[in-house]
Amino acid sequence: MARCDVCFHRCDIPEGRRGFCGARTCVDGRVVAGNYGRVTALALDPIEKKPLRRFHPGGMILSVGSYGCNLRCPFCQNHAISWSAAALARADSAETITPRALADMGADLRSRGNVGLAFTYNEPLVGWEFVRDAAALAHDRGLVNVLVTNGTAELPVLEALAPYIDAMNIDLKGFTDRYYTRVLGGSLGMVKDFIERAAQLAHVELTTLIVPGENDSEAEMRALSGWVAGLANGRRVPLHISRFFPRFRMADRPPTDVALVYRLAEVARENLEYVYTGNC
Ligand code: SF4
Repeated sequence: MARCDVCFHRCDIPEGRRGFCGARTCVDGRVVAGNYGRVTALALDPIEKKPLRRFHPGGMILSVGSYGCNLRCPFCQNHAISWSAAALARADSAETITPRALADMGADLRSRGNVGLAFTYNEPLVGWEFVRDAAALAHDRGLVNVLVTNGTAELPVLEALAPYIDAMNIDLKGFTDRYYTRVLGGSLGMVKDFIERAAQLAHVELTTLIVPGENDSEAEMRALSGWVAGLANGRRVPLHISRFFPRFRMADRPPTDVALVYRLAEVARENLEYVYTGNC
């Protein structure tokens, strides 16, 4: 048995078993990333898809995902590779890639407009050691590194990655403890601490998915965007406000009204210079 200190779950993991995220395991009494080098998705994407709008605009980025996540968002669009029972059942048969091979692939793809590596699709921080190793080698090759994360990790994890990460898109999924705790199985406090520090270390953009009946009030968007404005250079932190579509375990409500997404974007613009709408 060993305790994992990556996130607030603080899992006590018995030998050979997995923590809550499904990615970390206990080997010889030590917690290790069981998903190290395991790849479930690999694609050369436009960087705007991450989404990042103010970092290498027009560039492509080699995007890699593994398995495992420490949240349980009922609308997860990547559940098939991230944390569902099916995803974890397939985990051990996922293909493996070394950090060096991934960095080399990123460099080879320069000819197709690639600017670097993006760690995305599942939650990369539950396997942060692979991110660190591949990102360091990518830097050696003159590439940039992007982290697409839910921001649910302790600050030492962020500090360990900081020398290698150039930009992040971090989910700020809402601005109430109720939503984070009861609906997402997360911790708003941990995410806020993470974002606060990340904004001092790298280029940061944020994403908020507007879910009907959960986080869709003007008051909540005013509070959220006001808090973002108080970060390091906060008024210039880009905020992506996205439209929800029913899926997975949250099929009980309609897509977010497009007019509401636009209205909330206007509210956010009271505090922030760069507000983008998505999925509209
Ligand atoms: S990263 Fe995974 S194993 Fe570690 S505490 Fe969080 S959920 Fe548990």
